Amino acid sequence: MIKKKKIVIKSTSEDKNQPGINFIRNIIDQDLNNNAFDGRKWSGRPKPFRDQCDAKPDTTSVRTRFPPEPNGYLHLGHAKSICLNFGIAKDYDGACHLRFDDTNPVTENEEYVQAIKESVKWLGFDWEELMFFSSDYFEYLYDFALEFIKKGDAYVDSLDSDEIRRCRGTLTEKGIDSPFRIRSVKENLEIFENMRLGKFKEGSHVLRLKIDMEAPNLNLRDPVIYRILHKTHHKTGRRWCIYPMYDYTHCISDALENITHSLCTLEFEDHRVLYDWILNKLMKYGILKAPVPRQYEFSRLNLSHVVLSKRKLIQLVEEGHVDGWDDPRMPTLVGAKRRGYPSSGIKKFCDRIGISKSDSIIDYTIFEDCAREELNDSCQRRFAILDPLKLVIENYPNNSIEHCIAGNHPKLPQLGTREIPFTKEIWIEKSDFVITPPKGFFRLYPGNKVRLRFGYVIECLGYDVDEVGKPNTIYCRYFSESKSGSLKSNYHKVKGNIHWLSMQHAIPCTINLFDRLFLSADPSKIENLLEHLNPHSKKTTKAFIEPSLKSAQIGDQFQFERHGYFILDAINDNKNSFVFNRTVTLRDTWAKDRKRK
Ligand code: ATP
Ligand code: MG
Repeated sequence: MIKKKKIVIKSTSEDKNQPGINFIRNIIDQDLNNNAFDGRKWSGRPKPFRDQCDAKPDTTSVRTRFPPEPNGYLHLGHAKSICLNFGIAKDYDGACHLRFDDTNPVTENEEYVQAIKESVKWLGFDWEELMFFSSDYFEYLYDFALEFIKKGDAYVDSLDSDEIRRCRGTLTEKGIDSPFRIRSVKENLEIFENMRLGKFKEGSHVLRLKIDMEAPNLNLRDPVIYRILHKTHHKTGRRWCIYPMYDYTHCISDALENITHSLCTLEFEDHRVLYDWILNKLMKYGILKAPVPRQYEFSRLNLSHVVLSKRKLIQLVEEGHVDGWDDPRMPTLVGAKRRGYPSSGIKKFCDRIGISKSDSIIDYTIFEDCAREELNDSCQRRFAILDPLKLVIENYPNNSIEHCIAGNHPKLPQLGTREIPFTKEIWIEKSDFVITPPKGFFRLYPGNKVRLRFGYVIECLGYDVDEVGKPNTIYCRYFSESKSGSLKSNYHKVKGNIHWLSMQHAIPCTINLFDRLFLSADPSKIENLLEHLNPHSKKTTKAFIEPSLKSAQIGDQFQFERHGYFILDAINDNKNSFVFNRTVTLRDTWAKDRKRK
């Protein structure tokens, strides 16, 4: 394999200026100008999907497909492909099919099918009635295989898989013909039909295309197109015991569905000749009519500090390194949803990184920035104290409660206000008080004044410490005429502004804080992936939130001022215990925090 150079991109200004423009769209524009896809009605197209495809006229439209294999949950890499395929269909008034590429019954199942459908919908895309399964075409694929055999373009090979591999040659060595390559058409037909009837055990025979064992491109060295698998398929049950291979199935499925542009990731570049070879043969046989679909490749999404491979994600789930596919640290779409990344942010991210052929790793911070931009507009503000320290306002009446009016969004006054109760004893953040202030510290220290946000100005008079010398209670006085919004509130000029919660009213809750799942920027390159798992990727802390959050529902999202964006993940213990996940901090502090550690 040729090793491609990887570059870590911090920002992609080129795509920022012209979102949506990419080389694939240029190709489509050219095709449309040349009427390249006019007259695509294939009269022989089998009935069940002819009806569905005809729901949108073929002649005018660009037709793409998103073809997941239902062998795992979708991840952020798939989101790139979904946005590209569905985005093109939408912009060109075409159609995008959702097609499950389900040719391997060993790893595929119904749970994955459902999860994939839900994730595509969550991203905001709709395949309408255009949902297909490669397994719907098993009968056609089989008939076409008979055709390949009859025309002398395919043969049954009875070498075992090791021998086949050995005879295949390498990039520098030619392959060797299998001794079974010269089997007669009659014999091939007979064995292949018996393969279908279940007369042989797994591994005893395969069907191969007869192309060229000396071809420089290994994909053309008589690729295997059918193998025997005595397994139950999630849709066809035990009806089949031979299953077609990906390369054979994919191009034919595309053609059957009248796909115009078959967009896939760069690792399929070398398979394109085979894609074209198969479809050209079927045109020669009179089974397909021109124009047939064409394959175009773009670079896959690689994101720093995560892995985007279902195989590796399955390992994390099955070995219990994360709490399931929807663990908020997982780069799956179900994980992203639970983490609170809005689907609009994921789409923005896919727009921003653009589509190209250059292989690169996108910095995770670009992904987080997109989430922040969306959440900043949509989330109401609330107070939460993540690391509480008690503060007593000595000159405030003992049993008094008053309400401070707090705006729900600094830029969107239409989102209204809420009341935050104020009392003599409050929680503040531990980090907002120091005994000896470093230079430039404007928050609380003995003798200093700060404003309690939306409340009063207070002055620190003293503090108590615990047995190890850490402050555990702060004593202050407040200035009764300084309340935010009152006439004289501006008389007190202070530089610091801190958030707080009335101890009597604050609701205890649990907060999950997340860090990168892997310590390495490119974990996919590492042999032993698990050694690079970040042991501190999840931290759970007890915190307090303001009483207005009592009515919050699971899935509600807020900005907890100064702490970031949070989503309500669970309400436990008879509605008494809230669990929030932090989606992302307010600013990108990751690189800085890392240095400090
Ligand atoms: P994985 O390696 O995670 O198993 P896959 O390619 O095997 O991914 P499929 O279910 O076959 O998974 O993928 C469906 C579609 O999504 C394919 O067209 C594939 O090219 C695309 N895709 C998968 N991973 C990425 C990625 N990281 N970036 C962009 N597109 C991707
Ligand atoms: Mg795949």
